[in-house]
Amino acid sequence: MSEQPKTPVRASGGCLCGGVRYEIRGPLRDVIACHCSQCRRTSGHFVAASQARSADLALLESTTLKWYRSSPEAERGFCSRCGGNLFWRPDAAEPAVTSIMAGTLDAPTGLRVMQHIFVADKSDYYEIGDTAP
Ligand SMILES: [Zn+2]
Ligand SMILES: [Zn+2]
Repeated sequence: MSEQPKTPVRASGGCLCGGVRYEIRGPLRDVIACHCSQCRRTSGHFVAASQARSADLALLESTTLKWYRSSPEAERGFCSRCGGNLFWRPDAAEPAVTSIMAGTLDAPTGLRVMQHIFVADKSDYYEIGDTAP
């Protein structure tokens, strides 16, 4: 038997109930906050997400993971037991990527909010309080 070289785990995470657990075995992008209405309605506020290549995302537990097609271009992964929002996966990205809701990452993440997007679509009850563009 030969030893398989293992890519080191960069980060891990999961949903509240533990029905979904994952590891990322590759680089993670800094966090982008999306204020669009789809992100607002699935998250309850706005989405703050990192991103990794889908090939680097390993699902350790996924018994409760469900996918919802939220637009013609993408689907969202969530836990059907605790309701946790975990993933956003665009169809067309090459190489394939998966956005990972940053709050589901085990801390410390070492990441920073780098950008806000769809700011014009944000709701009216909060202001963006950091200095990221
Ligand atoms: Zn769960
Ligand atoms: Zn969004």
